[in-house]
Amino acid sequence: LNFQPTKFITSAANIRQLPDDAGVEIAFAGRSNAGKSSALNTITRQKALARTSKTPGRTQLINVFEVTEGKRLIDLPGYGYAKVPLAVKEKWNLALSEYLQKRQSLRGLVLLMDIRHPYRDTDQDLLHWATDCGIPVLVLLTKADKLKPSQRKSTLLQAREAALVFGDGVQVEMFSSHNKLGLPQVEVILSNWLNT
Ligand code: GDP
Repeated sequence: LNFQPTKFITSAANIRQLPDDAGVEIAFAGRSNAGKSSALNTITRQKALARTSKTPGRTQLINVFEVTEGKRLIDLPGYGYAKVPLAVKEKWNLALSEYLQKRQSLRGLVLLMDIRHPYRDTDQDLLHWATDCGIPVLVLLTKADKLKPSQRKSTLLQAREAALVFGDGVQVEMFSSHNKLGLPQVEVILSNWLNT
């Protein structure tokens, strides 16, 4: 699948405002600053398809992109901002777990984590929710260029080991938007998800 023609379709304030639950889609999630926007831009070979909200706590939207007709990429709001009120976080968590449970078109979840700080609390919650509903997960260890090759390799092996507790629906790869490390592997996995 060629991701280059991907276009922005719409922004949604909540899960209910997403396009009709038809076709197929892949959701992207991660802590703020994990490198999600950069990864989306790298995968689609576009400079500014996904933009980051640099304002902590600002209302964040779900951005919907279309690769080709009926094949979508869903950019979920980054989580982990300390300043977001707990009630807002809880409401969002509820909506997110409902989305993972009910969305028929959802073929997989890409969970982005900074390779230097993998598996933080909310990352683990998401992994539990997704795997409990049988949604395949691709854990992307981002900013892999920040580590030396030997460190990278051992971190990847550790992260794969740690993923085993979530069952066999989780794959772990390294990624770098700066030097495109891991891009071919990611493309294969995303293409498979969208073509089934
Ligand atoms: P988002 O909040 O998850 O969408 O994260 P961004 O894509 O905006 O990236 C957050 C910060 O990390 C920015 O300063 C990026 O330049 C930086 N960043 C993103 N990807 C990489 C990467 O692969 N390597 C390095 N070294 N920095 C990255």
